[in-house]
Amino acid sequence: MKQECLKELDNCSRCGKCRSVCPVFGEVLDERLVARGRLALLEAYLKGDIEDSEKLRNALDECLMCLRCEENCPSGVNVRKLLAFGREKSGKSPLNFIVSKLIFRFGLQFRTFYDIAVWLMASAQALLKHLEIVPSSMQRHLPLYLFQLRRVPDMPRKSALKLLPGRQIYKDAKMKVAVFTGCLGNYVYPDVIKSLCGVLDSLHISYIIPKEQLCCGVPAFFYGDPKSAFYLARKNVTALKMDDVDAVLSPCASCARMLKTGYKELFNRFAGDEKFAHRPEKVMDIIEFLDRYIDLDVLLTEYIEEDGEIEPDRMRRLRIDKKVTYHKPCHLSWDGADEANRRILRQMADYVESPEGNLCCGGGGLFSAKYEDLSSKIAVKKIKSIERSGAEIVATPCPGCMMQIRENMKTAGLPGKVLHPVELLNELLKAKAKNRG
Ligand code: SF4
Ligand code: SF4
Repeated sequence: MKQECLKELDNCSRCGKCRSVCPVFGEVLDERLVARGRLALLEAYLKGDIEDSEKLRNALDECLMCLRCEENCPSGVNVRKLLAFGREKSGKSPLNFIVSKLIFRFGLQFRTFYDIAVWLMASAQALLKHLEIVPSSMQRHLPLYLFQLRRVPDMPRKSALKLLPGRQIYKDAKMKVAVFTGCLGNYVYPDVIKSLCGVLDSLHISYIIPKEQLCCGVPAFFYGDPKSAFYLARKNVTALKMDDVDAVLSPCASCARMLKTGYKELFNRFAGDEKFAHRPEKVMDIIEFLDRYIDLDVLLTEYIEEDGEIEPDRMRRLRIDKKVTYHKPCHLSWDGADEANRRILRQMADYVESPEGNLCCGGGGLFSAKYEDLSSKIAVKKIKSIERSGAEIVATPCPGCMMQIRENMKTAGLPGKVLHPVELLNELLKAKAKNRG
């Protein structure tokens, strides 16, 4: 792997194009904190020219893993693979080691442990709020505020996997899909998963939501514990029964990208002769799936019939009478997914583009916890752009981005809502069903 990475590092021509797209560099203007600089440091480290150190590890860590540099790199450098390998090999302080092993090896691999930890967190939040023993401005960040990890919204007491049935089979179904909830969908935004299932129910598409699914593994994969990521990949691919379904749907851009591309890399590296039913082409963003297989024009039209005949002048477009803008998650980078989300929003609502609409929100999972100030500074640009659009709703197909934008909109005092596009669609389809009586 080291030789492979050294070879990959040779592909970097040091052109510096990554400087123009890196959200971190855009704030700090520090060459060590952009792909070109990080890779130069990594190369020096792997060749033995510099020692492992906190500074090196920080240069590798202070990165959103948004992969905008990789998307825009004229030489096609696999920045993700290199940075993850750098993190795997560097900065093994005892504290880092214990924390990562505790979270990636224990926390994420045992659903019961994860469930209990999240339940305790939700209960502590509820109790502290009820007792009013902390200032209200701190409440929404509790209990992790106490550990300076502030970006945690109110946690529901029941996860999506607990609330929803494991399967819904329709006799007249033409398709069957598997739903991958992702951790934020499961624990923080079960309403997004409920909406996703609501849309599938409206369309009579059969689905399974395997209870055995675990974290997609992206935190372990990005933070240098590929073996834990491989363990999770194996469990998920087995649970999702990819051979038996037409598609695997995720409401989360990061999870879907991991299931599509990250797993391929992990299986190549660790699976040996073991074979997995991994079908990356079946993994889709939920809106991408609907855009591909469902006639959205028909779906979003109400036909009023009289005596079995459609009355053309009584056809009605289902629309949300609000200004909606879109945030593109950095990880929603495969062909078709981004366009599908924009298209459906245009069809459903009074759609407005935000100026510089593709700005990163600065979330980056653990990045926003570890580098909160920097994460907030990156978010400020995004929030200003949303404000300038005049939108009342921000729609984005990634619960991580939803969390980051919601928190930063609240901080900025912006009143608008942040929702997943599937939540908007489900509302329209519920209204259609109600009108039908
Ligand atoms: S990572 Fe790509 S974009 Fe950045 S300097 Fe190297 S070749 Fe250029
Ligand atoms: S992954 Fe994102 S934050 Fe990290 S170096 Fe590339 S563009 Fe910058």
